[in-house]
This record gives sequence, C-alpha cells and structure tokens, in this order.
Amino acid sequence: MRYIDEFRDGTLARNLAASITAEADPARSYNLMEFCGGHTHAISRYGIGDLLPPPVRMIHGPGCPVCVLPIGRIDLAIQLPLEQHAILCTYGDCLRVPASNNLSLLKAKARGGDVRMIYSPADALKIAQANPDREVVFFAIGFETTTPPTALVIKEAARLNLANFSVLCNHVLTPAAITNILESPEVRQLGTLPLDGFIGPAHVSTIIGSQPYEFFAEEYRKPVVIAGFEPLDVMQAILMLVRQINEGRAEVENEFTRAVTREGNLKAQALVSEVFELRRTFEWRGLGQVPYSALRIREAFAEFDAERRFKLETRTVPDNKACECGAILRGVKHPRDCKVFGTVCTPDNPIGSCMVSSEGACAAHYSYGRFKDAAIVSRPAATTAA
Ligand code: SF4
Repeated sequence: MRYIDEFRDGTLARNLAASITAEADPARSYNLMEFCGGHTHAISRYGIGDLLPPPVRMIHGPGCPVCVLPIGRIDLAIQLPLEQHAILCTYGDCLRVPASNNLSLLKAKARGGDVRMIYSPADALKIAQANPDREVVFFAIGFETTTPPTALVIKEAARLNLANFSVLCNHVLTPAAITNILESPEVRQLGTLPLDGFIGPAHVSTIIGSQPYEFFAEEYRKPVVIAGFEPLDVMQAILMLVRQINEGRAEVENEFTRAVTREGNLKAQALVSEVFELRRTFEWRGLGQVPYSALRIREAFAEFDAERRFKLETRTVPDNKACECGAILRGVKHPRDCKVFGTVCTPDNPIGSCMVSSEGACAAHYSYGRFKDAAIVSRPAATTAA
C-alpha cells in the first residue's frame, strides 16, 4: 500500500476483524496494551474496539506525553513567565494541562505571563534571537520522537552563543515506562492488570528501533508488535499478537516496516546522547518516580538548562482527588470509570491531563463516543494467556 487512505480501507478492516475473530480463542482472553496515545486515538476514532471479538481487550497505556507530565513540572514552567518574567515557549497541548492553584499555562498567560505557543523547537530559538534582552525558555516535553529536535536546538543555541535561551527538559523514555508497568503490583502481585502483549509505539520506534523491546519479549515473555497509527496498522498488529499468543510465542514483530528498523535512526540517537544524559529518576503522572526514565541536559550544555539557570526545584503535587488519570495511565482503569468523565471534566474544562491532549485516553473516548469497550473492560478477566 502506498497511500494513507489505503490504510483506512473499510473492506480490508472488516477482513482483518474477521480474521481476529476467527483466530481468537473464545476460551481465553487477550489483554493487549497499546502503549501510545496515537494508537489510543486511532482505536477510539475508528471504532476498532467495536470490531474486536469479546476475548480481545485493549488497555490504554501511558504513552501520551502531555498526560504523563506531573503537576510539579507544569508548576515549574508556570514559575518562569510569572516569577522570572521569561518568555515560555511550548506546544499547544501543554497550555491547558491543569496545574496547582487552579492554574495552567493558559491561565498564567491570562494573568500576564508571556507564554507562547510554538510548532517546533526552532520557533523558540527564533523567538530568543528576536528578543535578546529577554530570557526565552522552551518547555520541552515528549518521548523519544521529539527529543532529537530539542537536542538540535540546544546545539544550535551553543553554536550561536545564544545567552538568553534555555530548555526546561521533560523528555521521557518509553522502555523504562513499559518496565515500570510490567513490574507494577497490579501486574506482578495482585493480578488485577493481566497483560498478554503490547502494541509498540510507531513514531518512537522510528528513532529507537525495535531492538529495545526485545528485552520485554525475552525477560517478561510478552509479545510486542510495533505498529503504525493507521487503523489497518493497529488491526494487523492485534492479529499478529493474537497469533503469537495462540502459538505461545513472545517475540518482537514489526508491522510498521515502512518506517521502523531494528536499529532505528542512529544519527538521531547519536545526537540525543551527545546533548542528553539519563536522569536517575523522574516523576511520571500515574507511575510515580520511575528510575532512569527521563533525560537531562549534559554538563557540556549546562548553560542551556533552565533548571540550572533558574535554580528550579521540582515538587511532588498530588492530582485532583476526583481524577483517575493515574490509574488510567497505569492501565488499571478506563476513562468511563471516572465519576466526572464527560460531566465536570470535558475537553473544554479538563480536570486531569488525560482530557487535554487528543492522544489522552479520556479525550479520545469523549471525542469519539465509543463506549462499547468500557463494557469489555469491566468484564472480569478470563484465563490469562501466555
Ligand atoms: S475524565 Fe477527567 S478527571 Fe476523570 S480521569 Fe479523565 S482527565 Fe481525569
């Protein structure tokens, strides 16, 4: 297939659904986590949950970068325009994430803070060049996909000797989050989160390749299928996972061969490791402190690190008590389990981060109104496969 609409073909989707239904054993369950918010979005948007037979259950994972950002990190970002009078540049999705004291970056802007929405880190660099008498901070978030562009602007700022530019780095790492979920009490001890396989990220894997997931297949005996974000990609990946589980295999398979290789993008990986190093620990919304799960700016580029420049200290701030984002990001609850879903909490008035970004599970379910899979989630888990 060459064109995007071919990956949305209804007849092919029905054929794939028929194959999944024919091959899924009704006597067992297939609990499959889609790690990425992009897959969550596709599953909701195209009603993939409605096409799956009862034994196949999709579980949303923590792969939405806006959703996993803890309140304490957004509070740090808000300090910069309001207290340091810096220009804070960030992606649109970050603007509405609720922070402490009923604030968000958007509300900070309404209070006079200079918060600017940008489309790429290069925009922040241009703003810094155009405002040499102001501090300009790029609030960088995202998984491995968005890290190389951040590394690039830091190197460019160094080359230009740009003294008024820095980055508040919140880049996080996919494999560490998967490990955290597989080691969680819900998976290891309580058995309340049966997991039989993963749909691996699409864009992230273009950078890191398929190799890092081999550990999960080998050590945890969990099959992984890397898939693109189109509906047929997701359905093909589900079929491949069902087959692996039926055959007792736990391997890394790559459905997204048009973009992902085993090694990934070596040039991007080299760039990232030149500019960033691992943090010992980093707080994720829902997952708590996750060891070696995020990046910080290396000493060689310390002058571009907003945390050092402004002596910022992250505080842990509890989520709104009504919000179930933490449990949803760990895969143990569904958006419909939240009492304020769709009533008090909507995309226009998000109470938690999962309702902000289109990749968030709550926003995806709210926007596309697919509620059949809520019933699937509340069904007691049958025999756990593999
Ligand atoms: S519906 Fe809103 S409050 Fe409830 S879990 Fe989702 S984001 Fe949080």
